[in-house]
Amino acid sequence: MADHQQLLPTLTCRCSNCVTERAVIFCIADGARLCLECDGAVHGASELAGLHSRAPLCDGCCAAPAALRYQFGAHWATLCTGCADGRGGASLVEVYTGCPAPAEVLRTLSVDAPSSSSQEDFDAWLADNLPQILQDVQFDCVIHCV
Ligand SMILES: [Zn+2]
Ligand SMILES: [Zn+2]
Ligand SMILES: [Zn+2]
Repeated sequence: MADHQQLLPTLTCRCSNCVTERAVIFCIADGARLCLECDGAVHGASELAGLHSRAPLCDGCCAAPAALRYQFGAHWATLCTGCADGRGGASLVEVYTGCPAPAEVLRTLSVDAPSSSSQEDFDAWLADNLPQILQDVQFDCVIHCV
């Protein structure tokens, strides 16, 4: 590994497929961290790949599928059992398969997406809010990675 990479701790949180986006999903079958876009691309590619169980990426270590979800003030964080370390007050994280709609993935990631709007409304909402959502997710990571 090149020296300059050690100056970028967030690299450990990057998607292992495209290596540019922040990973938010962990594929248990592949042992891979994926961003939302690569999750759709990799697991939408074949019926077999669609059977892979995926979970939100652990916000603590960015190296394991999260099993538990915690609320820290206004933010949610998902942690693997190792990072949760027996902490109470968690709810269980849902694992998913197939190619869920973006709204379902966001729900898995603890993001409140509008549920009653039409597909067009949702697409517009997503375009407006995705940068902020990804920033919030990254914020959680920054808190728990240090
Ligand atoms: Zn990616
Ligand atoms: Zn997979
Ligand atoms: Zn962890």
